[in-house]
Formats: sequence, structure tokens, C-alpha cells
Amino acid sequence: RVVAQQRRHLRQVFELAHNDALTKLPNRLAFQKIIKEHVSANETQPFLLHLIDLDRFKAINDTFGHPVGDLLLSAVAARLKAAVRPTDIVFRLGGDEFALIQTGGTASDGGQIVARRICRLMAEPFEVAGHRLLIGASVGSAGITADVPDAIGLLKAADIALYLAKSEGRGTSREYNAEMNVAVGRRLRLENDLRLAIEGEQLELHYQPKVRLDQGARTTGYEALVRWRHPERGLIPPGDFILLAEETGLIVPLGEWVMQRACRELAARADAMTVAVNVSAVQFKRGVVAEMVQRALILSGLHPSRLEVEITESMLMKGDALVEEQLAALRALGVHIALDDFGTGYSSLSYLERYPIDSVKIDRSFVAKLGTAPRAAAIVKAIVSLVCELDMVPVAEGVETPEQSAHLEALGCTMAQGYLFGRPKPACEIWPAEERAVA
Ligand code: C2E
Ligand code: CA
Ligand code: CA
Repeated sequence: RVVAQQRRHLRQVFELAHNDALTKLPNRLAFQKIIKEHVSANETQPFLLHLIDLDRFKAINDTFGHPVGDLLLSAVAARLKAAVRPTDIVFRLGGDEFALIQTGGTASDGGQIVARRICRLMAEPFEVAGHRLLIGASVGSAGITADVPDAIGLLKAADIALYLAKSEGRGTSREYNAEMNVAVGRRLRLENDLRLAIEGEQLELHYQPKVRLDQGARTTGYEALVRWRHPERGLIPPGDFILLAEETGLIVPLGEWVMQRACRELAARADAMTVAVNVSAVQFKRGVVAEMVQRALILSGLHPSRLEVEITESMLMKGDALVEEQLAALRALGVHIALDDFGTGYSSLSYLERYPIDSVKIDRSFVAKLGTAPRAAAIVKAIVSLVCELDMVPVAEGVETPEQSAHLEALGCTMAQGYLFGRPKPACEIWPAEERAVA
């Protein structure tokens, strides 16, 4: 009896140490043991490892609180277990990371079927504590092969596949192959370079004039556009690194640098020129914009009315409360808000009604067709009159010819930007040295 009791006690201790208290799934410690056993037995019983990472879990945890986050994790665990065979093992490795060891049907297509099924199931809404929660999952899979011979290599391979799945926009699965090493290496190097660039003064701002069409193309301010002066690759345009910065979160320090530099450089000028700074949706979703702007205004001494924040409508789409709060805070500071690239996305008119917007930038694609496509002209005309009716300022982007400029002026568009009036140029070319107090 005593021996039986001791055994039971030992089993309890073992289970406590090897099970995750919240989801009752085996934990990381159990995973480390079991994966080694599977690697040894792989010849007779091949298996696949899937690493599963939840998308947007952190945001939900932050928004709804930890109790809801915990319930969601339990629901995820239950859904994962229900989606696999009894012979497969689901683990919770920690946080919002899960793993699956799949033993049956591991031919590579079988593995992909399971991985895709997991992605699909995780994208379906979870009903938790009266909330309808939308998350998703990225999955990276790998099996034992000649170049992935052991448990350490297997984990690394699945991790690489997961990293690529995530960087390809999340909600997808990837299975490891040898070429992935090269692709990930390149990306990681770029990410690392960008991190160093933000710290090491490799970024610079170019300024493009904004002009009043109804006042003889008088310049009233500038849009700040970031560039990366890479030591080997030369000047890199933002199109080549902003997305990477957004995916890696580096957009936060990058955006802060841009905001501070733009405010400082403009504040050093005696005239009343305005400056427009592009702020990414990711910065708004992180909730850091209002404080960042306030810091930059205080540090530079720039009057808030001289600063304009350019936003894109993609961030308005979901009606995110955090985004709305920050827009309201910016407005309260006296900063202007411009809606960028209007006409390309959903262009929902409700945004114009609902959000505190001061000006609307009409996308270059419409301006480019002015004079050649009557429909594009009709659209520009309609946007201009609607925007004016709402007491906002219409700004035409990408004006390249005098004909476009005249056409826009005739349509009542008051502001414009484009190569016709000036290309983006470094501060030293726009403002003579004696006018620049900034070193
Ligand atoms: P955007 O905000 O729509 O900026 C206008 C882009 O159009 C700029 O490209 C500008 O150089 C270009 N452009 C201006 N006038 C003309 C024209 O007449 N013709 C043509 N063909 N192009 C013209 P750029 O500098 O390469 O920037 C690309 C995008 O990168 C920007 O589009 C903006 O979305 C983003 N970006 C730039 N700087 C920042 C930044 O500091 N933060 C963030 N989050 N995004 C930035
Ligand atoms: Ca812009
Ligand atoms: Ca634009």
C-alpha cells in the first residue's frame, strides 16, 4: 500500500512538472523529453514537428485582460486537440506558442494538410466570455532528414519555417526546406542592418514641397520622406524597408526618429512652414503615437499647428478604439491630420464623416490620368468638391505636368505636391546652410 501511495505521489509530481496548469497540455519540459524519444524512433516511426504561433494574441490579452486571454488559450488548446488524431501530441510551450508532434500520415502532403487545417481552424472566431475573438495562427513544420538529423536541428528548422510563415503575412503554414536557410539569412541580415541604421545615423529625411495652387504655387510646407543611406547598397527608398520595419516592430523607433528629426529641422526655421510626417498604422495600433508626437513637439519647440500627421485609411477600417483615442489626442494637441493615398483603398466616405481629418490627399494614380481619362477627372472633381464641402483641404499628389496643375486648379483643388513643384530633397539642398540651426 505504501509503495502504491508513493507511486501515485510520484506520478502527481511528474504531472505537475510536465503539464501546463492552464490548458492541461504537456509543457515545454515534457516536449523536450518526448521530442528526443521521437527522434530516436524516427526510422521505424517517422514524425513531423509543427510549431504553432498565435497571431494577435498579445493585442487581445492587452485589450480584454488576462482572464479573457487565459480562457482564450484554453479554448485554443481544446480546438487544437480536437483537430488532431489521438496518437498526435499537442504541447503548450509557453505564452501563445504551441507545438504538435504528428506521427500518423507524415508524407509531406499529409503534414501540410494538418498544418493548413490548424491555420484554418484558428482563423475561425472564438466565443470567449461573451466576446467574439478573432485570432489566427502561423505554423512552421519540419521532419527529420539528412540535413536535419537531430532534435536541435529539427527545432531550428521548424523555427525557420515558422519565421517565414509569419513574415509572409501570418495565418499561413510553411514546411522547412534547405533553401529557406538562405532566405531567412538574408532577411535577418536586413533586419539587423536596419536596427543598426536606426541607431547609427544612417537614416535621413528628404523634404518635398507642398504648394498652394490658388496662390501661384507658393510653398507652404514640406512632407518629410525617409531614406536609408546603406554603407554598401547606397540610398534605399522607403518602399524597400518600411514593410520590414512594420513587421519587425522597428517602425516604432524609426518613426520616432523621423518625427523628432522633422520637428527639429522645421523648428529651426524662422518662417511658418509646415511639416507633414507619415505615421504607420502599426504605430497607431501599438498606441504610441500621441505621446511620441508630444515628445517631439516639446523637444523641438515646434508649434503644433505646424505639424501634420499623414495616416492611411487601412488603419481606420476596423474602428479600433485605440486608434481613435490617439487621433483625438493629436487633434487636442492642435496637430493636423491628413488622410493619405485617398481613392486607392476602400475610400469609405464614412471615414470622412467619423474621423477628425483636416486634409485629404488624392492619390497620384488619379492625378496621373487627368487629361487623358475623363473618368479619372470626374473622380478627382467629385473628391475635391466633397472634401471642400466638408471643410477639409484637398491635396493632389504626384503632379508632374503644368497641364495637370492647371486642371486641378480649375477643379478647385487648393493644394498640390509633385515633381512639377519639387522632388524630395535633403534639408541642406532646400535650406541654405545659414538658415539651418540644426547640425
Ligand atoms: P507617400 O506618403 O504617398 O509619399 C509620396 C511618394 O510619392 C514619395 O515616394 C514621393 O517621392 C513620391 N512622389 C512625390 N511626387 C511625385 C511625382 O510627382 N511623381 C511620382 N512618380 N512620384 C512622386 P517615397 O519617398 O519613395 O515614399 C514612398 C512611401 O513610403 C510614402 O508614400 C510613404 O507611404 C512611405 N514613407 C516614406 N517616409 C516614411 C516615414 O517616415 N514613415 C512611414 N511610416 N512611411 C514613410
Ligand atoms: Ca504621405
Ligand atoms: Ca500618398
